[in-house]
Amino acid sequence: RAKAAGRNRYRFFEPEMAFATRERMALETSLRPALARGEFELHYQPRIDLRSMQMVGMEALIRWNHPGRGLVSPAQFIPIAEETGLIAPIGRWVLHEACMQTMRLMTEFKREIRVSVNVSARQLAHATFVGEVRQTLQESGIPPHCLELELTESALIADIERTALMLRELHELGVKLAVDDFGTGYSGLAYLRSFPIDVLKLDRSFVLQDDERISAFDFVKAFVDMAHALKLAVVAEGVETDDVVEFLRAADCDEAQGYHFARPLPLAALRERLSAG
Ligand code: C2E
Ligand code: MG
Ligand code: MG
Ligand code: MG
Repeated sequence: RAKAAGRNRYRFFEPEMAFATRERMALETSLRPALARGEFELHYQPRIDLRSMQMVGMEALIRWNHPGRGLVSPAQFIPIAEETGLIAPIGRWVLHEACMQTMRLMTEFKREIRVSVNVSARQLAHATFVGEVRQTLQESGIPPHCLELELTESALIADIERTALMLRELHELGVKLAVDDFGTGYSGLAYLRSFPIDVLKLDRSFVLQDDERISAFDFVKAFVDMAHALKLAVVAEGVETDDVVEFLRAADCDEAQGYHFARPLPLAALRERLSAG
């Protein structure tokens, strides 16, 4: 009977799976020429220092203006870009564009602005990656400490020895290294000893569950203390309410980003925000 049910389920899902596959192939086909056609753009989400409450940096987030579909989420196309290898040229473009635009903003607003760039596992696996970063620093003129690379836990632990070597080279260039979506993986903390990491970005899910506020507070506070003892700064992601801001300040968290402060902004809106102070 279970077998029969299984078969029914299979039949039931088959057309949907075929649809998903076709969708994916269609996206993949239009992703290939997207870079050359100038369909990508970067939005920037402000990052706020929780002590001064000033904007101190921003995260560059890629956006794809698909000619037929409108905006396609990176959550949808980045995985395809990774599987097809398209992430290499796309990632190079993101790094270059983010550094050039940030440097222009720094000149325009006569202040220091830090920019964070997401780097996927596939990019990090490329032997040429450190060279690309070095070249981008030179071409853009951005001070190295103003560039932060966001890496995920899974990318870091894929090949610990090789990654450790590479991160040391990157760190010697003076760029900052952050672990993104921290708390969603299951890798433990041991790897933090092997890598010159500067920043932990606490995943949104880690930060606060509404009905578990008290235990969450002790948990986050203990976590922040530990991170500080290891000389790591802590940035909270996905902060949506004033309550959470107070919670994070009380927990001694360093910085935050989220809809409460600002959504990821197109360049023009970011300029307005910087003009406002
Ligand atoms: P991420 O790096 O963890 O980026 C944070 C995501 O959370 C962004 O989604 C951002 O818009 C969203 N977010 C920010 N504040 C809030 C909030 O208060 N509430 C909620 N619910 N969400 C918030 P986005 O822009 O759709 O990007 C999704 C993911 O795609 C990113 O997660 C990152 O992993 C990847 N990604 C984006 N741009 C790039 C890129 O240039 N290169 C690579 N390799 N990956 C990228
Ligand atoms: Mg990120
Ligand atoms: Mg994140
Ligand atoms: Mg996240």
